[in-house]
Amino acid sequence: MSDTKVKVAVRVRPMNRREIELNTKCVVDMEDNQTVLHPPPSNAKGENREDIAYMVSTSKVFAFDHCFWSMDESNVPKYAGQEVVFKCLGEGILENAFQGYNACIFAYGQTGSGKSFSMMGNGEQPGLIPRLCCSLFERVHKEENEAHTFKVEVSYMEIYNEKVRDLLDPKGSRQSLKVREHKVLGPYVDGLSQLAVTSFEDIEVLMSEGNKSRTVAATNMNEESSRSHAVFSIIVTQTLYDLRSGNSGEKVSKMSLVDLAGSERVSKTGAAGERLKEGSNINKSLTTLGCVISALADQSAGKGKAKFVPYRDSVLTWLLKDNLGGNSKTAMIATVSPAADNYEETLSTLRYADRAK
Ligand code: ADP
Repeated sequence: MSDTKVKVAVRVRPMNRREIELNTKCVVDMEDNQTVLHPPPSNAKGENREDIAYMVSTSKVFAFDHCFWSMDESNVPKYAGQEVVFKCLGEGILENAFQGYNACIFAYGQTGSGKSFSMMGNGEQPGLIPRLCCSLFERVHKEENEAHTFKVEVSYMEIYNEKVRDLLDPKGSRQSLKVREHKVLGPYVDGLSQLAVTSFEDIEVLMSEGNKSRTVAATNMNEESSRSHAVFSIIVTQTLYDLRSGNSGEKVSKMSLVDLAGSERVSKTGAAGERLKEGSNINKSLTTLGCVISALADQSAGKGKAKFVPYRDSVLTWLLKDNLGGNSKTAMIATVSPAADNYEETLSTLRYADRAK
């Protein structure tokens, strides 16, 4: 499975304080590359009581490239901390970037399931993005010399309601930017800042500025609920010089790390008006992303004829076209809650991830 272009991992977060206090049953189990979802107890409180009637009583088994356990830290052979996640998903992508390939890592899951924790992490437990940036510079500093130079640039944007906003805009403008198409280079965001960085510390500063300006809107589900997709991209340009002839060649690769908007269905969050429109745009882009990834996965597995890949159906997939198709490497980390009362969302996340394989 490791040769396929789309690598799919599932990560279960630990129970949170509320779930522990309520003595919530854990419905997720993992063994090697299998994730098992057990039926919730009949008294489980789903957000929609009527949906519970549809739940089937058998356990569901899914196989993925990686299953990351964090429910019980003392279960050492199973427990996968940030380091393990980086080793399994980040290192290969970094290696590919040095070879000149583009890459994309998505975090998909309901709000509060661990997307930001997996992508960004926190001060004590840095996630994929800081680890990737740190390793990138370690390697750049080791390899650069007069015949091999590197330029590293970053951009950080938010896609909210199908509109793009620059999170690194030095003027702090909240205006949305236009998506255009270049005849040769393909789709791009007109006016998006692309800032040169020379160390991991530079990136850290920019990221924390960018994170402060992310749009967050409260829903009934979670005060901090993020309704936008955040796309952090690292562009590495390597120039190789032939010192004798003076000729040079360039290799450019782009890695995009995407913290997707919460995948929970809008109907569940009691949304109306603007929020409902926002929700349907989120659903549309997540559905399109699912279709794009599954079409690419089928292509790389050589299943049937080349499929039509619907990149244009959402701003997210259109802008990531170059990072998804061709020789790019794609990975998805689907994050789930272990709790019985999140059963339906967990099942829907596992199904989404399953389609991407
Ligand atoms: P999301 O981005 O999906 O809304 P978060 O990443 O903010 O969710 O996670 C919700 C909470 O759960 C945070 O407090 C986070 O630190 C914690 N959490 C999530 N995943 C893990 C994990 N694998 N290990 C430890 N804590 C986690």
